[in-house]
Amino acid sequence: MAGAAETARDEASERLDAVIVGAGFGGLYALYKMRELGLRARVFEAGDGVGGTWYWNRYPGARCDVESMQYSYQFSDELAQEWEWSERYAAQPEILRYLEHVADRFELRRDIRFETRVERAHWDEERGLWRIGTDRGDELSARFCIMATGCLSSTNTPDFDGVEDFEGDSYHTGQWPHEGVDFAGKRVGVIGTGSSGIQSIPLIAREALHLTVFQRTPNYSVPAHNAPLDPDKQAHIKENYARYREQSRATPFGLVNPPNESAAMDATPEERRAEYEMRWAEGGLGFMMSFVDMLVSRESNDTAAEFIRGKIRETVEDPELAEALCPDTVVGCKRLCVDTDYWETYNRDDVRLVDLRKNPIERLTRRGLRAGGEEYELDAIVFATGFDAMTGALLRIDIRGVGGRTLADKWDAGPVTYLGLMTAGFPNLFTITGPGSPSVLSNMVPSIEQHVDFIGDFLTHMQERGAARVDPEPDAEAAWVAHVNEVGDATLFPTCNSWYLGANIPGKPRVFMPYLGFLAYCEKCDEVAANDYAGFSLR
Ligand code: FAD
Ligand code: NAP
Repeated sequence: MAGAAETARDEASERLDAVIVGAGFGGLYALYKMRELGLRARVFEAGDGVGGTWYWNRYPGARCDVESMQYSYQFSDELAQEWEWSERYAAQPEILRYLEHVADRFELRRDIRFETRVERAHWDEERGLWRIGTDRGDELSARFCIMATGCLSSTNTPDFDGVEDFEGDSYHTGQWPHEGVDFAGKRVGVIGTGSSGIQSIPLIAREALHLTVFQRTPNYSVPAHNAPLDPDKQAHIKENYARYREQSRATPFGLVNPPNESAAMDATPEERRAEYEMRWAEGGLGFMMSFVDMLVSRESNDTAAEFIRGKIRETVEDPELAEALCPDTVVGCKRLCVDTDYWETYNRDDVRLVDLRKNPIERLTRRGLRAGGEEYELDAIVFATGFDAMTGALLRIDIRGVGGRTLADKWDAGPVTYLGLMTAGFPNLFTITGPGSPSVLSNMVPSIEQHVDFIGDFLTHMQERGAARVDPEPDAEAAWVAHVNEVGDATLFPTCNSWYLGANIPGKPRVFMPYLGFLAYCEKCDEVAANDYAGFSLR
């Protein structure tokens, strides 16, 4: 029985059909969908505006690495037709403007509470609803909770000794000041050479007095060949949008880049070179489609690795520096970076590379940073050190399911989900692009839409069946987790210390979190839905 305190709390709290956490691509579309279903929904967003990733990541050079014409919503043809992208890869301000336009066009803002962080979500078994608490003291309850909290929204700043001693300015790429940063005349240090570092380094180098790049693991990067979008090409794609988007659904990563179906080791060295040169000249993530076995055969992958190393050696004039920049890991096992003038930047005489594998960071100091016994004097430090990916934002919320069990406890050895959409013991709680779904191994906007559409159809199905509560069956969940692991283990992904494995966060369980295979995943979801939502238990 509910106690008096709970009853009083129940009366004081506001009842909704659905609470949605996050106002990025995921949360905005989820709100649109809930309204379409006639449900009362509210979004809570920690930032003071919409956009998610594109609200927070305002560092110089931030732009998408999936082409703009693909990295956008499909749910509204009017929206797709009316929006004009200016570049092949849109920069952060343009993507943010797009998401602001979406929020305005569909009048979404009235149901979004900004600058409000959801701190807790507790399942009330007796009433069959989620009790939500925010950092502004809101107490709400809702039948459904949709976590659109983002795979890459929880920043990671390493716990270096002396962080508090540093007297200069410091920034994380994922929490960039809205007013921008003026690096003119400054000695800047960038720590990290993932996608954020690789995008920002060329621009910071141009602006700063001097730039020192602190690199722990060299990374592979291919040129973006970014350029203004040809209006004729844009018009042509728009005329054939449905077919164009269908094409993307039929590829392993949800990208419209024709995959080469042959294996690298079946090709002659000349054929391989020609294929890599063609993909290099084309630019972008299509490089990963060069050969079908790139992510499963080390021998094949080595040919791609050697090709990129060749490009680095051709571009970087100082041979010793070029070697320090050459990666020795598997291409694509950390996300392949897409850059503009990254390797060229190291030919500048005001840019220095510090190889942290030889000279590890010892501490930050009052005047800069000490690594390998040398002190680097810096006016500003940029942490391009990434995110507690995939699970970080979820586990920062105190989520408790049936019997008060915390999500942190359930995921103690790594995330466990059914289809990356739900986790058993946490009824009516959905995750958008959760671990166990293609998420970060796909073009994320179609992935997000596929999740929201699935949830929308599922809620309609529940309504038709008179069901108020859904929970995945533990067996179905276990089988899905085993399948996700099996697929991951058959690839080269587990061979390097990537954030896909949680390996960038000290103490995080080493588990390959995303599901490889956008098409296979969509087919599986369609099959589950066609089979009366097999694997989900309705009450
Ligand atoms: P997000 O955009 O991350 O939004 C989540 C929101 O939830 C955030 O605004 C956050 O503040 C809010 N939130 C989290 N927890 C709480 C809480 N407890 N209470 C309240 N609010 C909360 N993907 C691609 O496919 N192609 C790309 O080119 C690409 N480029 C990227 C570039 C960068 C710099 C980064 C960091 C990621 C990129 N990604 C890319 C991945 C990108 O995150 C997704 O494409 C997409 O934007 C995710 O949308 P989302 O709504 O799921 O999450
Ligand atoms: P990231 O890929 O995780 O890179 C973080 C970098 O910081 C790595 O070089 C890492 O080195 C380094 N680092 C972390 N901790 C460190 C420590 N303690 N000491 C020294 N170095 C340390 O993060 P990100 O660059 O922000 O990118 C994250 C993801 O966001 C990308 O993979 C991509 O999916 C997305 N993204 C996309 C784009 C785009 O092009 N559209 C741009 C930015 C981000 P190690 O490799 O040795 O760990």
